[in-house]
Amino acid sequence: MTTPTPDVLSEAEQGRCQEFFPTTANSIQNNIIHHLMSFQGRDPERSGASDIYKALAFTMRDIMVEKWIKTQKTYYAKEKKRVYYLSLEFLIGRSLSNAIINLGLWDEVKQAVEGLGYSLGEISEQEEDAALGNGGLGRLAACFMDSIATLKIPAYGYGIRYEYGLFNQQLINGYQVESPDNWLRYGTPWEFERRVPVFCVQFYGKVTTYQDEKGCFRTKWIDTEDVMAMPCDMLVPGYKNDHVINMRFWAARASRELDLTHFGEGDYIGAVQHKVSSETISKVLYPPDHNYAGQELRLKQQYFFVCATFQDIMRRYKKKNAMFDDFNDQVAVQLNDTHPAIAIPELMRLLLDVEGLNWEKAWDVCTKTFAYTNHTLMPEALERWSVDLMGKVLPRHLQIIYEINQRFLDQVAQQYPGDIDKLRRMSIIEEGYPKMVRMAHLAVIGSHSVNGVAALHTQLLKERTFKDFHALYPDRFNSKTNGITPRRWLLTANPELAGLINSRIGTGWEVDLEELRTLEPLADDPEFREAFWQVKLNNKKRLTDYIQLTTGVEVIPETMFDVQVKRIHEYKRQLLNALHVIYLYQKFVSEPDLELPPRTVIFAGKAAPSYWRAKLIIKLINAIAEVVNHDPRIGDRLRVVFLPNYNVSQAELIIPAADLSEQISTAGTEASGTGNMKFALNGALTIGTLDGANIEIREEVGEENIFIFGLNAEEAAFERIRNSRTPEQICRDNPEVAEVMEALADGSFAQGDRNLFKPLVDSLMSPHDQYLLIRDFESYLACQQRVNEAFLDQQCWLRMAVLNVARMGKFSTDRTIRQYANEIWGIPV
Ligand SMILES: *Cc1c(COP(=O)(O)O)cnc(C)c1O
Repeated sequence: MTTPTPDVLSEAEQGRCQEFFPTTANSIQNNIIHHLMSFQGRDPERSGASDIYKALAFTMRDIMVEKWIKTQKTYYAKEKKRVYYLSLEFLIGRSLSNAIINLGLWDEVKQAVEGLGYSLGEISEQEEDAALGNGGLGRLAACFMDSIATLKIPAYGYGIRYEYGLFNQQLINGYQVESPDNWLRYGTPWEFERRVPVFCVQFYGKVTTYQDEKGCFRTKWIDTEDVMAMPCDMLVPGYKNDHVINMRFWAARASRELDLTHFGEGDYIGAVQHKVSSETISKVLYPPDHNYAGQELRLKQQYFFVCATFQDIMRRYKKKNAMFDDFNDQVAVQLNDTHPAIAIPELMRLLLDVEGLNWEKAWDVCTKTFAYTNHTLMPEALERWSVDLMGKVLPRHLQIIYEINQRFLDQVAQQYPGDIDKLRRMSIIEEGYPKMVRMAHLAVIGSHSVNGVAALHTQLLKERTFKDFHALYPDRFNSKTNGITPRRWLLTANPELAGLINSRIGTGWEVDLEELRTLEPLADDPEFREAFWQVKLNNKKRLTDYIQLTTGVEVIPETMFDVQVKRIHEYKRQLLNALHVIYLYQKFVSEPDLELPPRTVIFAGKAAPSYWRAKLIIKLINAIAEVVNHDPRIGDRLRVVFLPNYNVSQAELIIPAADLSEQISTAGTEASGTGNMKFALNGALTIGTLDGANIEIREEVGEENIFIFGLNAEEAAFERIRNSRTPEQICRDNPEVAEVMEALADGSFAQGDRNLFKPLVDSLMSPHDQYLLIRDFESYLACQQRVNEAFLDQQCWLRMAVLNVARMGKFSTDRTIRQYANEIWGIPV
């Protein structure tokens, strides 16, 4: 619907132009042209889509920065309490469409871009994803920023400006091959590199004591190696509310003093080497997900960003305050997992060594300032640093950690006299060779709030991971079920569905997702169902084209799109899904007349580069696809695709096209999941276990509108010990399971090579398989059969899908953030 751009501004437009920046199609177009010429040096008539993308991004940034300045002024004016959200990861994805939508300028920008001869779609495609995170944890941080801005909470995100984000994944011969994500190659129009404030971060060195002018013994950290932290800001606009917040990402820069010493000594090469090694700190994102690696550079990244962040917090605090007694009335710090937990001894160091508070006062302020979010129950994912490493890199912090621990253990010993084992279990220091610092214990002890990210997860934290701590501090533990932002995951990603919803119930759901509930009656309206189906089909056609383009596989949009997209990990059980694909394949071959709905099974996800088992699972899925997709006996009834390089923008394309959402982790392993929420909000039905937020999704949508199978968390824990049915027994009892395992073992998917997938066969058949795949396989097969039957009854399926959308109100991050603000941060919203 392009209306011709008027040459003369209407009065209404002139009125609006009194704001400094453009808000009409005409003025946006002029601004794009201005940016093209003045800043990019391009001839507007000869510039391409990538030039227009950049110029448009700068135009949106201009609008945001004006609003951001106004927003910041209101904070200072009202001396509001500020929230600092500290996260090593922000999985942002693309920013352009989201910015345009949140600024409420979609129609105007569309018109402006079309006037220049482009579609907004092709312009948006020019943007590279900002992948400064691995998966769910980083994406949660990005969704939180959107909701914080939308709810006008005075908050900042703090993180690292990685020069290389999450690696790119290619598939070569079915194997994952990683390549660097050089996302800043052409710069990014979204960041503001700032020259001030730049902060100095110390490492290594030693600790000395001295007497201050009042005769008190004080501690100093000296002879350190220093690195500078330079801020880069990215702006986050709230949804149509003129509120803009910022995420501040630190980039490492060599310190000038050291550069000069080297140069002074005539050591040019040394100076350059120093520069390179300093700047390594913010070079690359660590790719492990739910798996802790323990490398010195990672610890340095953590401290680098925490130290710079706290200098910035203190700078801002000191503008209005001289005393630290009520620091925690002005500052709340949320730790996204233990990755930034070194902030606890850092704040103690600042309060003790720099500001001169006594221990008791400093500790009181500290615990009232921090709140810690736990993201995992898996022991191998809990961060522990060797005492030796900590003592080398951060000697003063190790001293402080020992002091915190000593005082804490004294308190425990008083409460539980004679219980030596409890002291050993609860200590921040794990005795052994080598001795380790348990960051999760530090985070629990140093915070006034410890939260899990779904109800089950929080319950398991209290009962298992932090049982002793829960007994000691019962009030400290609370639950904050994760969410997703409906602006990105429905409004931006699925504009057709958003449009359909708007046409029936209006737009209130965009900021109050509970309003979707008024869609419920429409689940029984044949006309609405038909329109809903048409939207889904269009989304499936878009994905079909993308699949053809990226993998060469032809799929049929009318088939059931059965989707599992997430990081590849044993606990997420992509292998269980793969076993079901083998089962279906065998069924289609052996019983060609069976009435089963045709399926397109879609996988995507990255494996940590060092996680060879996860990489072998990727190879297996591709090997199965190779066999299935080329077997003429199958016809069009089954296709398998593995889409390479899963990221946020691919998720935005895949999720709106899904019919079935696979959320099949072993119960008690997935803390929450957020992919599960994105799918249900876009009208996919879930097949899943009673794990993480799946449980709460079932509560909301009703058990008749979700497909649940398998052991629950309690049964799974029990089964690991009792082992009532071993994989071997199950294969003996169930020939269908045996047949699937046989095909996996006999090399059917490896050109006869029986060795290739042997490690996977062995773990599946092991009586000690902690993820219980074979134990849940029969239940999964039976559940998939229920899915088949439901899908064959299209009207029934559509009804369920509409009800899923209508009942997803709880899973907005607007709700999650309100709870954090009210219940943890002390900011009533
Ligand atoms: C939402 C999201 C995730 C998290 O998915 P889960 O299924 O909850 O593990 C990971 N990666 C990307 C790109 C996402 O958008």
